[in-house]
Amino acid sequence: MLIAEILVFAPVDRSLFYGIPEALRLILFPGSLVNVILGKTKKIGLVIAVREVDPQTLHYTLKPIISSIYDIPITDGILIQLYFWIAKYYICDLFSVIDRAIPSVIRRNISLKLTAYLQLSMDLDESIDGKKLPKQWEAFEFLKKNPFILKSEFLKQFSRNILDALLRKNIVYETFRREERIAYTHPDLINPRKRSIQLTPEQLGIVASVGESLGQKIFRVHLLYGVTGSGKTEVYIELIRRVIGEGGSVLYLLPELALTAQIVEKIRSRLEGLSPWVWHSGLSDGERRDTWLAALNQPSMIVVGARSAVFLPLNNLRLVIVDEEHESAYKQGETPRYNGRDVAIYRAKLHNATCLLGSATPSLESIFNTKFKNYKLESLNHRIDHRQLPRVHVVDMRYEPKGINAILSRLLLRKMEERLEKKEQIILFLNRRGYATTVLCRSCDFIASCPHCSLPLTFHRTLNQLICHFCSHQEPPQMKCPRCGSPEILYSGIGIQRVEQVVQSCFKGAHIARIDSDIMGKKHEFIHILNDFRSGKIDILVGTQMIAKGLDFPNVTLVGLINADGSLNQQDFRANERTFQLLVQVAGRAGRGERLGEVVLQTHIPGNETIFLAKDTNFEEFIAKELELRERFRYPPYRHIINCTISGNSALRAELFAKRSFVGGLSELFKEDCSAIEIRGPMISPIEKIQDRYRYAVLIFTPNVSKICEKINDFRKKITVPADIALSIDVDALDFM
Ligand code: ADP
Ligand code: ZN
Ligand code: ZN
Repeated sequence: MLIAEILVFAPVDRSLFYGIPEALRLILFPGSLVNVILGKTKKIGLVIAVREVDPQTLHYTLKPIISSIYDIPITDGILIQLYFWIAKYYICDLFSVIDRAIPSVIRRNISLKLTAYLQLSMDLDESIDGKKLPKQWEAFEFLKKNPFILKSEFLKQFSRNILDALLRKNIVYETFRREERIAYTHPDLINPRKRSIQLTPEQLGIVASVGESLGQKIFRVHLLYGVTGSGKTEVYIELIRRVIGEGGSVLYLLPELALTAQIVEKIRSRLEGLSPWVWHSGLSDGERRDTWLAALNQPSMIVVGARSAVFLPLNNLRLVIVDEEHESAYKQGETPRYNGRDVAIYRAKLHNATCLLGSATPSLESIFNTKFKNYKLESLNHRIDHRQLPRVHVVDMRYEPKGINAILSRLLLRKMEERLEKKEQIILFLNRRGYATTVLCRSCDFIASCPHCSLPLTFHRTLNQLICHFCSHQEPPQMKCPRCGSPEILYSGIGIQRVEQVVQSCFKGAHIARIDSDIMGKKHEFIHILNDFRSGKIDILVGTQMIAKGLDFPNVTLVGLINADGSLNQQDFRANERTFQLLVQVAGRAGRGERLGEVVLQTHIPGNETIFLAKDTNFEEFIAKELELRERFRYPPYRHIINCTISGNSALRAELFAKRSFVGGLSELFKEDCSAIEIRGPMISPIEKIQDRYRYAVLIFTPNVSKICEKINDFRKKITVPADIALSIDVDALDFM
């Protein structure tokens, strides 16, 4: 008898066995999706193994599989191995992994929406009397100009009655199309000049080195460290050309949805006839399904996508590119808390594929791996055409006059004027959303804070609301201090909306746009703004970290860093690393074209070493210093950290659980094996309370996660967590707040 081992999409943390009915014998494989009964309800399951057993050996009767959802498997054996690895390494349920890895549109196998279009008839034997029926005539003229148009578009301009009349007269007819993949076919999307380029000897050297691994079909990780504007992207494209030419597939990961459009266009313009598929959270269900099915069916394809693209079932995967590999956006913020970069590396390993990590500011982890593990370091040390890295001016904000100059220093204002005169473009960067970051009372020092979180509220001018950036709590700003009644409310701390306002008041004639996550909600808004910026319709772009990375605008010659100190104050051992990366990346947006770029970096601590090294893009020295520091304290990359957060409505109960059950239990578990882990805590988390829940942190330091993760996972499954307490485990955590 044939049975199937199945992972059911339900919070059950083990596989279950079901019988395979005769009719399904030939179509079920590992990776097939099926309908099964669990308890009394119908559930979807993923087949992970099929095997023959002797019915005599079964001590119970197996329920049969009800039906198969597709007639082909929708994932493959390697991906199934990957799911198991993620659940093990990141210490979480398998269910949470497959729930993320296999999108619900694939599980449901929904039929796709058909979209209605209007098509003008070819042989018109009837015409319309424009005098008698002016509206119909107008519609007819409109259709002549738009002979194939979305029905919904037509109905925006003309009534249903008009349409019915035209349909009756057979002037137009309705036709239906399956929703096509529309991502990035928007007409006014960026279209860079088509031109072929000659790679530099440095670039060719890297293509050859990575090409060697590709040729040998061995798993190998190459880390491409190339200063901003050194031509990393062109190296990727050359390798993509090669792999696709040989019939393989390429997975190209990016940390930011916004960067996909730029890369897709660039690949299209360089590799004619090749159209990359895209994958990110902004896709519609139809696009998602099309891409997934294409991945299953096509022997060779390229996908450009965000973190979750790592789960696409590509055939012949030969090359995995992880661009901006240092980005924390690769880390998933909820269970399963995997790092897309690291999962990509492991996936490449399972396929014997080559993995190429790239960055102008590689993470310390990856640099460490080039020194102590097998990663091969490849460097691009110069910008293309020996363009210089931008010149950086450091402005000491302690000596600036108050008022406007506390936001835009005198030097920055002067440089901005110069650039606008020359019709060059400017980027201003500040990593703070909102308008004012603290709202406080002058008389009693009361600070408006979130009633649910231990955090100050940020004032958003466009919405006229105080907002908590952690739980989205909103309240209208008060005219009087709620504590002492004083009307002297001070809005201090600069947010990006304030910068935008000040720039508007200083440069009346200039075109200014703002990009931050508050405008990202609007679909396509972001791409539109970037296009307008590229085409020169916008002179000054102000934004948060969303504009810090990857973007390539040749006409930008000035970048202003409004407050370079922001991320240095974080209570995190990575504060220096993040600051260095951010400053170098933002500065790297300047001077990418023919003209030299300049950067004005505003700071209150000009003597700070990180700022000093970032100013000169002195990566080597920064790395040496920082690695030394990390080694001294045995912080990552010298050890791994598993950050466990315990939270509850009662601070006392949460702390008690953290201390007794969690830390107590863990210490007991590793009592004979003390060198495997070091436990610190519980301590109060840097953000004590979020959404009315008190939070405690327990840090587990370990030289080797793989050696202990299974043990901790078993412990996690056995330990009884009271209903009012939540435990979250974050392996290789990047966020310690
Ligand atoms: P990076 O990804 O390292 O920031 P890009 O690949 O975006 O750099 O290259 C920066 C600019 O230089 C781009 O406009 C790119 O088209 C151009 N470029 C890259 N390599 C070459 C080359 N070999 N010859 C001419 N232009 C190049
Ligand atoms: Zn007060
Ligand atoms: Zn809050």
